[in-house]
Amino acid sequence: MVSINPEPVNAPQAEEAKLETRRLKLTKALLDQIWVHGEAAYPEEGAGLLLGSDINGERQVTAILPIDNAREDTARHNRYLITAQDMLAGEQQAMRLGLDIVGVFHSHPDHPNQPSEFDRQWALPWFSYVITSVAQGAAHGSRSWRLADDRSQFTEEILFVTNE
Ligand SMILES: [Zn+2]
Repeated sequence: MVSINPEPVNAPQAEEAKLETRRLKLTKALLDQIWVHGEAAYPEEGAGLLLGSDINGERQVTAILPIDNAREDTARHNRYLITAQDMLAGEQQAMRLGLDIVGVFHSHPDHPNQPSEFDRQWALPWFSYVITSVAQGAAHGSRSWRLADDRSQFTEEILFVTNE
């Protein structure tokens, strides 16, 4: 028996092509701040908001807003949490600066900079998720990810680091 796919055949490829061209621009100075924050939080996860702009898909981070880890339980070292209150404060700060919240950054102490299953469950589509691996207290690499609209998986985007 042959099953018939009702979806337009070229739709998934078009979506994939769009994903491949996505990128997140930020300066080396901001990336350094993200690394310092991740190292300071070690051996716990450190997190914060990425403020900037997204104009026709050209996404740029121009400020970061570090957030204190709100989780009090024993899973704190590998479960960052950004509360609704943090998001509200972030939105107000972004508005004051004429910016938007374009994503979230957090660190993975002694783990690769790939999203975990926990990250997938808590992430929102559209936002950029910058994950930094902090090994033995030293940050050594960041990658950026976006969740698919159906929330099934993350796709990596290009983290484009500029000098200014
Ligand atoms: Zn994570």
